[in-house]
Amino acid sequence: MIYVFTADPECPTVWALRQEDLAFRVLINEGEFGYGRNWLEVWDRGEPFVALEHDVIPWPGACKELLECPEPRCQHRFSGAPPGNLPMGLGAIKVVPVGPAPAEWASIPWNRLDGWIVPHLNEELGWEHVHEPPFAHARASLIPSP
Ligand SMILES: [Zn+2]
Repeated sequence: MIYVFTADPECPTVWALRQEDLAFRVLINEGEFGYGRNWLEVWDRGEPFVALEHDVIPWPGACKELLECPEPRCQHRFSGAPPGNLPMGLGAIKVVPVGPAPAEWASIPWNRLDGWIVPHLNEELGWEHVHEPPFAHARASLIPSP
């Protein structure tokens, strides 16, 4: 399954996914801890999933490719700041959950969640399998040009 983690159900990632013939679900991150609670809930379903943040834009076909890849942890980089920087984080990732999610995820603020989830992914799933090319980042348009 493909999940969009967002506070706004009409975010750019949802707009992009509607252009494809794909099933996806929107998970609303409620308050400071909603993102962590949603990650915990989805992980504990035990099924492979693609997680997209609200402003990371997959190119057509990319999510299907992620789900079909046999690797347990796949990621796309996306454009960040400064221009030319391509972070990964949790913005665009496919995981095959192993074991239960750590309960602490439900009490980690959204802006610190990657610091808790990424080490768990490193331990349980190994290093990321990077897919190319990178995704667009809707916020990139807000970065002033040099
Ligand atoms: Zn892969």
